[in-house]
Order: sequence, then structure tokens, then C-alpha cells
Amino acid sequence: MSIIAHLPSTLILWDVDHTLIENGGVSKATYASAFELLTGRAPSVRPVTDGRTDFEIMHELLSANSVDAGEYVEIAQFEGVLVEAMKRNMSQLPQRGHILPGVVEVLALLSALPGAVQSVLTGNIASNARAKLSAFSLDGWVDFDVGGFGSDGTTRSSLVGVARRKALKKYGATFDQSSTVLVGDTPLDIKAARDGGARIIAVATGVYSASQLAEAGADVTLDSLADTDRFMTALVSLRAGLAC
Ligand SMILES: [Mg+2]
Repeated sequence: MSIIAHLPSTLILWDVDHTLIENGGVSKATYASAFELLTGRAPSVRPVTDGRTDFEIMHELLSANSVDAGEYVEIAQFEGVLVEAMKRNMSQLPQRGHILPGVVEVLALLSALPGAVQSVLTGNIASNARAKLSAFSLDGWVDFDVGGFGSDGTTRSSLVGVARRKALKKYGATFDQSSTVLVGDTPLDIKAARDGGARIIAVATGVYSASQLAEAGADVTLDSLADTDRFMTALVSLRAGLAC
């Protein structure tokens, strides 16, 4: 049990896949379904996902399967098929996926701290992010009114500013570079924090190792969220401007 009882006002933005949950291949199946809904055939080349936004994933999936993606310039053009594809695949999530170790404990600890606002910064469109977290009963821990989603922009880096603007509108609080902390598992999460002006705790629960994430410029790198005290200590140290 963590002994940390105080955290200065902080916007904590969670990545979803491979940070909070392992989706067990349901994400890739969902993009394949969306491709099929859009084109009338199954993709022969599988989607590449890690850290990308839904727009980037769909765009690259079309190109990789020799479909002209030039006419697709905004996420709204993919939203309908992505929502329908998730509806078709989401019942598989609890069977094939799981919550990653320590996640519930960390979300619960943070929710008890008055200064913490928890939301999501994810490449998933908002409705699909909600569907994924709902499948594991994690949706109640994060504030979906704020946060940045793949439906808010085409690049991950642009979503940090989106989340901040939503948080300002709802809470009347300005979250800056030192008070916005991302948690994610890929170099693209780290790039989003750097480009968007935020701090980042990287977790090696996806395909990237702790040393790869450290090399990519994470402020803190953890093997997982299983050690909740270590996560909380890292978060408080980051907020205090201390090296960790
Ligand atoms: Mg991820």
C-alpha cells in the first residue's frame, strides 16, 4: 500500500493498449473488420498499431493492402466503420484480453488523491476507447469528458493540447508541462509527450523494452505498473521536478 497522501494538481493521461490492458489481438481484428467494412474484402497485410492513432492505422492498412488512401484525410471518414467493427469484436475482449498487473491498484490510489485528474490519451477513437475500458470495468476510473482520443486528431502529439483544453474547460485549471503526465508503452507515446509538452512515465508492458523506452527519452521507465509504490514515487518525483 502506498504511503503517498498528497499529489499536487496533476493531469494524468493513460494510454490504453499495453498500458492499462492487453487486448489479446482484438484490436488488430477490429481494424481488419473495419478494413473489410470499408473495402468489401479482408486485408491480406495485417495492421501495424503500436502507438499510432486510429487514423494512421487505417491509412497505413489501406496503403499496405494496395488501396488508394488518398481520399481519406480525416478520422471522421473512418469513424463509422471503426465503431461498427468494435461492436462486432468487443465481446472477445474479456475472453482474449486482460487488465495489466497493478493497473486497478494504481487507478484506485490516484482516484483517492484530490489533486489527480485521470483521463486517457489514446489513438483509439473515443467510443472505442470507452468500449475497451468498459469491457474490463476500468471506465469508471477515468474522466472521459477530458483526455485526448483518436477521434480528436490524426497524430498522437496533437492530442496532448486537446486534453489540456478539455481539462481547462471542465476543471478551470491550467495543466502545463510539469503538471501533465502521460503514461504509455511506445516511443510514440514518448514523442507525444515531448511534442505536446508533458512528462512521461513509460511502461515496458508492450513490445518495447525498458531500455528502448529509456533511449527514446522517457522521463521514467518502469517494467510494469505492478509495483504501485514505485509508480507513485516516480509520479511524485516527476511533479516535484526531481530526477528519478
Ligand atoms: Mg499503447
